[in-house]
Amino acid sequence: MILVYLCEWPLAALNTKGESSIPESKEVLELGLNFAPTPKRVPVIDILAGVEVATRRAKLQVEVSEELRARICSVIKNTKVRQNNMKPSQHQAIASLKRNDTIVIVKADKGNATVVLDKSDYMDKCYMLLQPPTYKKLKKDPTQVVKKRITDLLKDLKAAKHINMAMFNKLKPTNCFAPKFYGLPKVHKPEFPLRPIVSAITSPTFSLSKFIASIISPLAGKTNSYVKNSSHFKLMISEETIGFDEIMVSFDVKSLFTNVPLPEALDVIKDKLGEDENLDDRTTLNAEQITNLLEVCLRTTYFVFNKEYYEQQNGAAMGSPVSPIVANLFMEHFEETSLDTRFRFWKRYVDDIFCIIKSEFLDESLLFLNSLFPSIQLTSEVEKNGSLPFLDVLVSRFDDGTMKTSVHRKSTHTDRYISYNSNHAPHVKKGIVKCLVRRAYNLSSESSLKNEIDHVRSVLSMNGYPRSLVDKVKNELKKKKKQVDTTTLNEDPVATAIIPYVSTMSERIRKILWDYGIRTSFKTKTTLSNLLTKVKDPTSNENKLGAVYKIMCECGDFYIGESGRALGIRIKEHKSACEHGYFTKSPLAEHVWQEGSHVINWNEVKLLDISQGMVERKVKEAIYINMSPNNLTMNRDSGMELSPLVLRAARGHSHK
Ligand SMILES: [Zn+2]
Repeated sequence: MILVYLCEWPLAALNTKGESSIPESKEVLELGLNFAPTPKRVPVIDILAGVEVATRRAKLQVEVSEELRARICSVIKNTKVRQNNMKPSQHQAIASLKRNDTIVIVKADKGNATVVLDKSDYMDKCYMLLQPPTYKKLKKDPTQVVKKRITDLLKDLKAAKHINMAMFNKLKPTNCFAPKFYGLPKVHKPEFPLRPIVSAITSPTFSLSKFIASIISPLAGKTNSYVKNSSHFKLMISEETIGFDEIMVSFDVKSLFTNVPLPEALDVIKDKLGEDENLDDRTTLNAEQITNLLEVCLRTTYFVFNKEYYEQQNGAAMGSPVSPIVANLFMEHFEETSLDTRFRFWKRYVDDIFCIIKSEFLDESLLFLNSLFPSIQLTSEVEKNGSLPFLDVLVSRFDDGTMKTSVHRKSTHTDRYISYNSNHAPHVKKGIVKCLVRRAYNLSSESSLKNEIDHVRSVLSMNGYPRSLVDKVKNELKKKKKQVDTTTLNEDPVATAIIPYVSTMSERIRKILWDYGIRTSFKTKTTLSNLLTKVKDPTSNENKLGAVYKIMCECGDFYIGESGRALGIRIKEHKSACEHGYFTKSPLAEHVWQEGSHVINWNEVKLLDISQGMVERKVKEAIYINMSPNNLTMNRDSGMELSPLVLRAARGHSHK
């Protein structure tokens, strides 16, 4: 079991700064990148803001809200947060790893391993992928052009009354920037080649792609070949038998997304949409319009890597929500038009295929499959010693023709899960136990179940979990099967508070909130991955959405504001107001003009906080204004009106 793969050079690099020793750095990395260190300070503002948003949403009576706030503030004031799940030397190791810009720390493609690579080696590997003819380098960022193209298309549809105003606003691109490219090392292959990944959530096509995905996804998954997941496959294979003259083989489509032939795929989808009698229930658009929008999403394949822009030349856009569905639909077409009875038991999960065929046909089968579409090429793997893995299942055949299953783990799997010691809410950790136990039951034949449960027990113990937890979860799962779920009959919450997890304190807060019918959902803000993995091009402060910010004047006065749009756009507005003396548009303008010739420090705008929710952001803005010395803020008011209790709790903690 290898937890951390250190390439030769980074091992030395971990020590170059002379600040941390290799053992400590390794110790930290071995915790796994999803490990959450306990925060040094209790994130009081996040807790107060999360509770405040939920309290307002719950629409409680004024006195009741105030009582709730008083109880929460008392918990914040009186709970001693003692725990720290890392040693000081480990905190130092994190800091020095964070500063070390000669290495790249990233999770492996599969198996929860952490990989440390020499930065220039990582960059070389990325550039090796980004070669023609698969990719083409672009002269500049096409985001604005794409944005305009999509907005125009949607405007036309709105003008022709095919979509309404609400739908137009939902789909139109706002606040977008270029998708980001990065690579994850495949540690099960020699020399660790990278798997290319594109993070497209900020792409101008993202909202549109999600919408189109919801329209076309019901078209897929209706074939015999369709495999939903590993459990589904286990159920199918358990009922199957295999003849003595037959053999198990798996096929893998090489880089399916970048090789899907789009013209064929789009034709297939247009036809299927045309035949779909229920299409009207899902959308007001017709098959042709949907296919046109889909094509725009699929063909918007650009991304940024190391400040340069590239475009993928063929296939479906990586990272787009429509791409897996289009790949699936194309493969269904491939199966319908090409497969014959020789491929007896053909089951497919996106680009992974499990098949039973006559042994004599084995050699020609791959040649045949690869002759069908030039861009669709498969590789094959044949059973070894009567066993073949598929997804998370290992299938074994027996002389009597029956097939049994057990859980399959790649040899590179680390058996590393979120450590019991990590600053995650208890139910997250219990969820991991549940998932592993359930997987053991779902994927194992009776004969292999005991082994698998034993394995789960020892793996969890290695990750710090108490042994009793496995049995507790096992019993709960058994009970659940018998009972018809009565637990879900609980009353519905009136609102949900999303707050960071702080051991002891957060649990007390949850109990109080539930007295008022408010459910609590814990979020884990900082993990080692957030701290140490820097493979995506960083989002500049200018592009950050949902900022609470502070703009300083040279005299020491400052202005605190918030914006749901990109911070750069809001700053530009302040700047312009200052230049033109528009007092009403920015208190900064008033300050600059009334004080004579004060200079605003535009280059050092401070990011105080980030919140995507508007109410949460306004609550935080008000807290920050109120925590600032009155005589220094240019703000004309204190923002959203907050209870003095909340402000006192925030102030009380800022001095600690
Ligand atoms: Zn000033």
